[in-house]
Amino acid sequence: MGVREVNTDKKPVFKKIQATKQMKEIMEQHFREMDEAAKTKSRKVAWCTSVGPAEILRAAGFLVFFPENHGAMLGATRMATDLIPTANAIGYSPDICSYLTADIGSYIQGKSPISKAYPGIDGPPRPDILVFNTNQCRDVQDWFNYYGREWNVPVVGVQTHRGIGTITKAHIDSISEQFKALVPKLEEVSGKKLDYDEFKRVVGLSRDCTDLWQQVLQIASSRPSPLTFFDGTIQMGPAVVMRGEQRAVDFYKVLLAELKQRVEDGVAAVENEKYRLYWEGMPIWGKLRDLSDQFASLNTCVLASTYCSSWVFPALDPDDPFDSMARAYIELLIVRDEDYKERYFENEIDLYGIDGMIFHDAKTCPNNSNNRYGMPERLSKKRYMPTLVINGDLNDLRCYSEEQTRTNIEAFIEQLAEKKSE
Ligand code: SF4
Repeated sequence: MGVREVNTDKKPVFKKIQATKQMKEIMEQHFREMDEAAKTKSRKVAWCTSVGPAEILRAAGFLVFFPENHGAMLGATRMATDLIPTANAIGYSPDICSYLTADIGSYIQGKSPISKAYPGIDGPPRPDILVFNTNQCRDVQDWFNYYGREWNVPVVGVQTHRGIGTITKAHIDSISEQFKALVPKLEEVSGKKLDYDEFKRVVGLSRDCTDLWQQVLQIASSRPSPLTFFDGTIQMGPAVVMRGEQRAVDFYKVLLAELKQRVEDGVAAVENEKYRLYWEGMPIWGKLRDLSDQFASLNTCVLASTYCSSWVFPALDPDDPFDSMARAYIELLIVRDEDYKERYFENEIDLYGIDGMIFHDAKTCPNNSNNRYGMPERLSKKRYMPTLVINGDLNDLRCYSEEQTRTNIEAFIEQLAEKKSE
């Protein structure tokens, strides 16, 4: 048994990422353009699910808004917990996606973090069409159907297979055909033909964005890591809402250069990094700061996650836009079977030199909670990997116990300290 090396009294020290300023500027541009277009009707607006076919929408002439980004803002500003009951009251269960319930509650109550962050904007832009992909879950379809009924606008989408092991041609063909079938409706609503050259250009930009974002995330494999998972949840904004746009590519070049410089200078995201953790599952948006502080005070860097990697699409190929998009949006972890996920986690453990894994069991998102079918136990056994399950939620803080989580994290780090000194 070794000596415990845990000091919880120390104040965490964080190094500011300079590129954040540029990220905030382009995020503001994104929201202001969207608001202007919806108000003046100068451009058509499409709502799209976070891993939906954004590239097709852009090539068909739409500005693209991502309601899950709004859901995350509702969580991060801690507005969600008070808004969720409003959606519950009209029949949307407290057990379903709390992005959905927080967003519908926000609409009914007329309260949005967008209007607080960007004065002059009332909230999300009214869409001309809503486009989903069920690759992540069924909730997105029900979420969009609510607004489709509310505003009498078309809702179209793609039904994706789930629990996929090996991806076959039949899978790709099915999704690719469904993407193509969206086009006539998109053209009817936008009043423009899908520009195939523009489509290829957008897919190319999406691919550039995704490659840079992947390099940003993988730089956390350096020792010490220059980046935390908590940084990633902030810096990922453009990869989600601006993939397919030049400004996202420009931003990630700047961010990557800064992080490379950090590695060269030996700058650590968490001072005296001793333990390297993996975060599996959704962020707990309203507790990012508290968790980040606690881990840093324990000399622990949570440095990689399944969540931030959800916007890495290496299959995108501008020369084969429909089929490559079909592959890219079906290859995602959330779409795959348990065997695939287990192999994925093992690769991540090796790539990042992980000492322990946190599994966030998000009450309202079973789709992004990978602890429920024995995964932590299997990884513990096979890889001697210490694991901790945190019960919580992405947005509904009624499902989260601060005190219990803090205690469990402390005990987990003690366990890691003991393991290291054995
Ligand atoms: S994947 Fe989870 S968090 Fe995302 S929309 Fe579906 S239920 Fe909500």
